[in-house]
Amino acid sequence: MNIKENLEQLKQEIPDHVTLVAVSKTIPEADIRKAYDAGQRIFGENKAQELVRKYEILPNDIQWHMIGHLQSNKVKFIAPFVHLIHSVDSFKLLKTIEKEAIKNDRVIDCLLQVYIADEASKFGFTQDELEDMLERDEFNQLSHVRIKGLMGMASFTDDTEQVRSEFEHLARYFKSIQNKFFKNKPEFKEISMGMSGDYPLAIECGSTMVRIGTSIFGERNYND
Ligand SMILES: *Cc1c(COP(=O)(O)O)cnc(C)c1O
Repeated sequence: MNIKENLEQLKQEIPDHVTLVAVSKTIPEADIRKAYDAGQRIFGENKAQELVRKYEILPNDIQWHMIGHLQSNKVKFIAPFVHLIHSVDSFKLLKTIEKEAIKNDRVIDCLLQVYIADEASKFGFTQDELEDMLERDEFNQLSHVRIKGLMGMASFTDDTEQVRSEFEHLARYFKSIQNKFFKNKPEFKEISMGMSGDYPLAIECGSTMVRIGTSIFGERNYND
């Protein structure tokens, strides 16, 4: 795997308005540095401890994104530095992020993860849960979290038509939520969808942020 070449290739394929998050979970520091030396500054991790460990040893102009399921009791570890949390999937978690953001005297950018897949195992708000939360006064009073958009993960399947319909669904849903709840919030503009297997499709369907690991770093080795 030539990480630099992979990144250059991706940069040609991904339009300028789409942010590339290099997913570095399980990837050793040396390989992350290769991506960094090739100019990549945005990296995504799915475990709080791993995120903290890498934040501490890698250059401090990296923007670290949390993309995986986050437990409330882990928020405090990443709150001082995390750049964007893609995976907010409950009001409880959002309130914890608010609390930790206040302690750190900063505003934490978040995406709301919406359940779009046809699989019982994926995390995310259902549409009812999401709208329920957005209507609450308690939500509108949050001052240290900034909601920048939505995130979704399509089903793990070879059926491109199904994946396309899930991405289109998320893009449509984004527009309706934007109209209904974020009219005066220009920062609500991101749709995080698309991974190595489906990012071209996601971009076609309106993604503004793709989360790509394997196509940059190669297959992950979970055994070490
Ligand atoms: C691992 C992961 C990715 C990247 O997956 P690849 O197929 O390696 O590109 C994207 N998003 C989330 C939430 C992930 O956990």
